[in-house]
Amino acid sequence: MVEKKRFIVKIDYQHCKGCELCVQFCPQKILKLTDKVNNLGYKFCTVVDEEKCNGCGVCYIMCPEYIIEIYKNK
Ligand code: SF4
Ligand code: SF4
Repeated sequence: MVEKKRFIVKIDYQHCKGCELCVQFCPQKILKLTDKVNNLGYKFCTVVDEEKCNGCGVCYIMCPEYIIEIYKNK
């Protein structure tokens, strides 16, 4: 059975600067930079194991660009 995601992590990746602050501070280690670049020319952040997100909000707090949003999955 596929585990239901408890949280949805939404990243406005076109505005990511690839600073990796969210990557470093995510306690679940589920954020990674891709090898692709966005319209700004930066490698951008993506969520790899969204079902492991605990909704702590650390990524939301750490991101200097304010481009991460966390939603409870209903
Ligand atoms: S809410 Fe917490 S666990 Fe989920 S991606 Fe952000 S830092 Fe990681
Ligand atoms: S903290 Fe924000 S700008 Fe930095 S890599 Fe993460 S999403 Fe991108």
